[in-house]
Amino acid sequence: MKLYEYEAKNIFSQFGISVPRFKVVSTPEEARLAAEEIGGRVVVKAQVLVAGRGKAGGVKLADTPEEAYSYAKQMLGSEIKGERVGKVMITKAVDIERELYLSIIIDRSIGAPVILASPEGGVDIEELARTRPEKILKIVVDPLIGIRDYHARQAAKFLELSEQTLRKAQEATINLYRVFEYYSCELAEINPLALTPDGGLEAVDAKIILDDNALYKYPEFSSDFTRDLSYYEAEAKKMNFSYVELDGNIGILCNGAGLTMATMDSVYVLGGRPANFLDIGGGARADLVERAVTLLLQHPKTEVIFINILGGITRCDEVANGIVGALKKTGVSKKIVVRLKGTNEEEGRKILEENKIYVIEEMDEAAGKAVELGGRR
Ligand code: GDP
Ligand code: MN
Repeated sequence: MKLYEYEAKNIFSQFGISVPRFKVVSTPEEARLAAEEIGGRVVVKAQVLVAGRGKAGGVKLADTPEEAYSYAKQMLGSEIKGERVGKVMITKAVDIERELYLSIIIDRSIGAPVILASPEGGVDIEELARTRPEKILKIVVDPLIGIRDYHARQAAKFLELSEQTLRKAQEATINLYRVFEYYSCELAEINPLALTPDGGLEAVDAKIILDDNALYKYPEFSSDFTRDLSYYEAEAKKMNFSYVELDGNIGILCNGAGLTMATMDSVYVLGGRPANFLDIGGGARADLVERAVTLLLQHPKTEVIFINILGGITRCDEVANGIVGALKKTGVSKKIVVRLKGTNEEEGRKILEENKIYVIEEMDEAAGKAVELGGRR
C-alpha cells in the first residue's frame, strides 16, 4: 500500500529525517492561510499516489499566499494521471543546490533490503539506472544484522558531499533504514533529498510503500487498504480472493492458485489472453462464488468468462448456484465456459443445465472453447 507524501513525511520527521515545514489542506482558502503562516516562498503539492506529479502539473512554486490560493484552486478537484486531487500540501520552498537520491528497497532477487544512493536525484531514477547505472550505488544489507555505520558511510560518500554534510547524509541513511524496518516497507524513498546552500539536507519528497502482508501491524493504515486499488481489485480484496488484472479479454475464475495458473497457461498456449487471475480459494459457498462471477461480469475488459473448478472442499452445486445467481442478479450476459469436476459434480451440472449453461468435461476442450469465443490475439 502506498502512503501519501504527507503521511511519509510525518513518519520521516518522527524518525529524525529533516523535512521542510508543511500543512495539508483541502480548500484554496486554507491553502492561502497555510502559505501566510509558513511565510515566504512555498510549494503547492497535490497529494496523490501516482508518481511524477511534478511533470503532470502537481507541484508548483508560489511566491505569495495569493499564488498558493490559485494553484490550490487549480489542483483541488482536478485529476492527475487519472487520480482525483482531494488534498494539497503547502510546504516551505527549499533553496536547492543539488538534488540527491536515497532509498531503501527490497531486492527480491537476493531476498534482502538494499540501499540505493545517487548524487543525481530528482529525475526519474529508472531512467538514470538505464542510461548511467554507474551513478547509482547499491548496497545490500543483511536483514538479520541490519544497517551498520559502514553501510551508511559508504552510501553518504557516494553522494559527493562536503565533510559537514557527509555526517548528515549518514544519519539520514540510518534513519531511513529505521523507517523501512519499523514499517515493514517495500520501499522508503527520498527523491529528491535536497542539498541546501548552507550544507543542510532536506527531504523534499517522500515515498513509502508498505508491504500489504504486514499491514495488519499498522492499524493507522490498514483500515484504508483499498486506497490505491481499482474498484475490482478492492472488491476482490474484501472477499479475500487473489486477484490480478491482466490485459487480455478472457476472465479466469478458479479455485486454488495452481489450478488458476494452469488454466491461464492453457488459455495462453492456445493463443487466448487472460483478462485476470482470480483464485477464489477453497470451500467457497454460493454467495462468494456469486460475488466473484459478478466481478467478472461487470469488468469491462472481460468478454468471455472461463470458470474452471475442481471440487474438493469446494462443492460444485454451490459453485453452480453462485454462477446462476450472479447472472440473474446482474442481468449481464456474457459468454461463459464452465468446467466443473469433483464433489457434487452431477448436482452442479444439473443446476447449470436448467439455466442453459453447459459444462465441458475436459480442461483442454474447455480452454479451447474459451479461446474460440474470445479470439486469438
Ligand atoms: P514528484 O514529481 O511527484 O516526484 O514530486 P517532487 O516533490 O519530487 O517534486 C518534483 C520536483 O519539483 C523536484 O525534483 C524539484 O526539482 C522541484 N521541487 C519540489 N519542491 C521544491 C522546493 O521546495 N524547492 C525547489 N527549488 N524545487 C522544488
Ligand atoms: Mn519526487
